[in-house]
Amino acid sequence: MGARELDSAVVGHHIGGQPATGHGQRRQPVYNPATGAVAREVLLADAVDVDAAVAAAAAAFPGWAQTSPLRRARVMFRFLELMNRHRDDLARLITAEHGKVFSDAQGEVTRGIEIVEFACGIPQLLKGEYTEQVSTGIDNWTMRQPLGVVAGITPFNFPCMVPCWMFPVAIAAGNTFVLKPSPLDPSASVLMAELLREAGLPDGVFNVVQGDKDAVDALLAHADVKAVSFVGSTPVAHHIAQEAARHGKRVQALGGAKNHMVVMPDADLDQAVDALIGSAFGSAGERCMAISVAVLVGDVADQLVPRLVERTRALKIADGTQADAEMGPIVTAAARDRIRGCIDAGVRAGAQLLVDGRQLQVPGREGGFWLGGTLFDHVRPDMSIYQDEIFGPVLGCVRVPDFAAALQLVNDHAFGNGTACFTRDGHVAREFARRVQAGMVGINVPIPVPMAWHGFGGWKASLFGDMHAYGTEGVRFYTKQKSVMQRWPESTPKGAEFAMPTAK
Ligand code: NAD
Repeated sequence: MGARELDSAVVGHHIGGQPATGHGQRRQPVYNPATGAVAREVLLADAVDVDAAVAAAAAAFPGWAQTSPLRRARVMFRFLELMNRHRDDLARLITAEHGKVFSDAQGEVTRGIEIVEFACGIPQLLKGEYTEQVSTGIDNWTMRQPLGVVAGITPFNFPCMVPCWMFPVAIAAGNTFVLKPSPLDPSASVLMAELLREAGLPDGVFNVVQGDKDAVDALLAHADVKAVSFVGSTPVAHHIAQEAARHGKRVQALGGAKNHMVVMPDADLDQAVDALIGSAFGSAGERCMAISVAVLVGDVADQLVPRLVERTRALKIADGTQADAEMGPIVTAAARDRIRGCIDAGVRAGAQLLVDGRQLQVPGREGGFWLGGTLFDHVRPDMSIYQDEIFGPVLGCVRVPDFAAALQLVNDHAFGNGTACFTRDGHVAREFARRVQAGMVGINVPIPVPMAWHGFGGWKASLFGDMHAYGTEGVRFYTKQKSVMQRWPESTPKGAEFAMPTAK
């Protein structure tokens, strides 16, 4: 298979190992956000399409669950090889439909590939626990078995990486999978489905239904879907968690964020400025781990803010295919307009707008969905720009007197996805990591996305459910424990027992 081009006018489903046009009649446009042009269309599944995908997955489950973990791992190894080979093809698809700059898209694919690498170790991860001789002549062991058909519902902002948080682990553990990607950037999911097929994955083990709320509702209500993994905004995550639970499904629903970065007066300010600019404006702020609040402690604001102004103004904003672009467009015109509205609200509430990105235009790309980097100072906790997730290139600075006030601020926020503290003081760093109410913490690291074997998840309104995505938490999510107790006639005495059995 050579380099992949975006030549298809319509992005369809992938069901039972085949591309599928499906039953649903609805479609929606897929844009190139850098030009604003409609690049192609995506099919939107209805309940009949979801039924077909779940039926294909259910039919494939018994055979795949019976396949030894080592053979499942070998498919993953071949898939890993293909993902590495097609890394830039995937990155090109992502830049074309999401808009993020190409180097960032390559990074996204690499972080997805790391989960595939993790899933290749599934024989070791599924190893059970064994106790010999729990009583005379009796042994007890536990094993973990797959759930059946599991579903993944993913957001627009990582069309490769977030699905990879789910399906490699789920499939390696012996489940079969139905992915419902974001309709805004659907093409990466189809390429991954083709690569899985090329890797030798049996038909039906991995299926893709393109679509929106209708497809999600059908998945949530489907009796054969045993578990749902969701990543997206908090209101939808909350809805998914409630509906999936109501239908008796296991669920993990990762939601939105408002990530704070605390800068202490003793921090390395060069590093702090670099970290704030990169983590607030990378991927146009459309990352659940983007820093959107700078918490500036003591007199650090007076030194830092002028440098942030200068760097925000100097951002290279361009078509993501351009080699020197630092930030690309916003994903859709609707998202751009919503973010502009958030900035308007910040101005009305009295925050000081230091850099205003609302009117940015990129020469030669006038139709694109552009916004410039936007910087506010003197943001207060009662303002909507502080409370709400903006999910765009908007950084707000909040000034606080000391470390205690900074920690309190982070802990009082409704979201608790990621957070960071920049300091040279080991005690402050330790106290921050221990006492902060967030699922992922960086010490002098602005975007602490955990590695594949550690698992990803926030706290508070950033995650509904008990287990984080991927890592050993992911293996537990996609398997259920079975405990077996065994004895043989020759090794134990005979006779009925009426008392609760205890170790003898
Ligand atoms: P979204 O919530 O709009 O959509 C996510 C998925 O849900 C998509 O597949 C979408 O088609 C579907 N969906 C949308 N509305 C629905 C509804 N009413 N009912 C059922 N399904 C629905 O999110 P998005 O705009 O695609 O992505 C951005 C959001 O995702 C941000 O809030 C961001 O913080 C969050 N996110 C969180 C994480 C995390 O790990 N916590 C990671 C990435 C993105």
